[in-house]
Amino acid sequence: MTESPKHQCSSCGRLTVEYSKFKCPKCKESSIYRCYTCREKHVPYTCTVCSYEGP
Ligand SMILES: [Zn+2]
Ligand SMILES: [Zn+2]
Repeated sequence: MTESPKHQCSSCGRLTVEYSKFKCPKCKESSIYRCYTCREKHVPYTCTVCSYEGP
């Protein structure tokens, strides 16, 4: 019972358990997952639906 759900980071592509999830601010359709590291470093992400790039 120690398994945490993992998600792929939308910035670096790694599987992560410490992530923040939010909707794409442009199309509001795709869910963006961002690992703690990428959030700290402000690595840009790309939306898979509308190709929006944002911090
Ligand atoms: Zn990442
Ligand atoms: Zn989008």
